[in-house]
Amino acid sequence: MIDFSFTEEQELFREAIREWLSKNLSLEQVRENDTKHELPKSFIKGMGDMGLLLLTLPEEDGGSAADWVTATIAAEEMGYADISVASAVFYLVQASWGYVVNRLASDTVKENYIKKATRGESFIGIGVTEPGGGSDVAGYKTELKPDGDGWIVNGEKSYISGTAEAVEMDGGYFVSGYNDRSKGHRGMTSFFLPINQEGVEITKRVDNMGRMAISTGGFQMTDVKIPKEYQLGETNRAFYYTMEGFDAARLLVSSSCIGAAQRCLEIGMDYIKERKAFGQPLAKYQGIQFDLADMAAHSEAIKQLVYKTAWMLDQKYQHGTFSALECSKYLSMCKYLAPHYALDTFRRVMYWFGAYGYTEECPLEMGMRGVMSYCIGAEGSANIQKIVIARETLGRDWTRTR
Ligand SMILES: Cc1cc2nc3c(=O)[nH]c(=O)nc-3n(C[C@H](O)[C@H](O)[C@H](O)COP(=O)(O)OP(=O)(O)OC[C@H]3O[C@@H](n4cnc5c(N)ncnc54)[C@H](O)[C@@H]3O)c2cc1C
Repeated sequence: MIDFSFTEEQELFREAIREWLSKNLSLEQVRENDTKHELPKSFIKGMGDMGLLLLTLPEEDGGSAADWVTATIAAEEMGYADISVASAVFYLVQASWGYVVNRLASDTVKENYIKKATRGESFIGIGVTEPGGGSDVAGYKTELKPDGDGWIVNGEKSYISGTAEAVEMDGGYFVSGYNDRSKGHRGMTSFFLPINQEGVEITKRVDNMGRMAISTGGFQMTDVKIPKEYQLGETNRAFYYTMEGFDAARLLVSSSCIGAAQRCLEIGMDYIKERKAFGQPLAKYQGIQFDLADMAAHSEAIKQLVYKTAWMLDQKYQHGTFSALECSKYLSMCKYLAPHYALDTFRRVMYWFGAYGYTEECPLEMGMRGVMSYCIGAEGSANIQKIVIARETLGRDWTRTR
């Protein structure tokens, strides 16, 4: 049996978020955030009050025990409201990586950081990428040396979302490094890095081209002491924990792109019904309608894929009916397709707007800048998604490179 409907609870949840976002995050506000390069603290706190932050956590840890379909609904609505996707980034990094951190964290980390983040009073992020490269995990330089029952860490992370927010809100990051390089990717261990810890220095704030309302920066770790209770999970398991975080984040990234593209289409449809050329509304021209039909069809197809994948992830966690690798393949398909579809939608709808579309008076350029970040990187580049899809489709023997 196939049932494509959402539960009544999920429908009500979507309605409640959309209503809250329509009151608290207008496109004018999104423009202001984009210009000021920050999200208002009251908005972040409001997300916490709405139960949107780290909603996938169990209730006893401050979450809403939301399943992945529900988290995907929220990501879609965040992208719909904030087409620059900055708010969506703030939401989804914590819903996905916060979930993994919380599952592996000691009570100390939960009390000091995670519970505060669920209330919008702290920030949990992901620090994987290094100056030498993000795609090649084997090339990471960050190293952990034993120190009593904890670790001393040295290394540098770059292009990390939310560094300014983490400093201001006294948050921290899921970080991993090599403790035994001879074991390859099985010689890495994860830990929670409080960003304001001694030995951590913010290197710089990057001037991105999009999603300006959330910061991107880097940090250097020099002889940082990580006590045992800040280690996440088991020694040598970092690679697998990281893949779990990527999986969840790729789902929510994809959904936020679908939401942003949907809003873009709606803004475009309103415009083509009003704007006249050669004596009639643009919407009357088949050239424009065919463009619309193409985007609407792709939107529906990718949205179905994203929600099917969210459902698979729920099945994996709740019943073990799909393996991690089966899910990863679908999650990479989502992350490969959705941002590119969204970018293409912004570009095409901007054409409908003519010269006005190319100005900052029109909101669409914010969307184009924002969703493009997800085509380039942030939770893995497009080519890395293709590597995963090919490997899980063709078989590992055919796609092994080393
Ligand atoms: C706005 C933004 C926010 C980000 N936020 C975070 C964050 O919060 N935390 C974090 O850890 N990282 C973050 N990143 C970094 C992001 O995840 C990396 O950009 C991404 O993993 C790619 O790494 P890289 O930029 O070093 O590119 P590289 O790894 O140097 O790759 C460069 C290019 O080569 C291609 N490539 C690499 N290997 C192969 C191969 N084997 N076959 C074919 N092509 C290949 C890639 O697809 C890419 O196009 C963010 C990036 C952006 C743009």
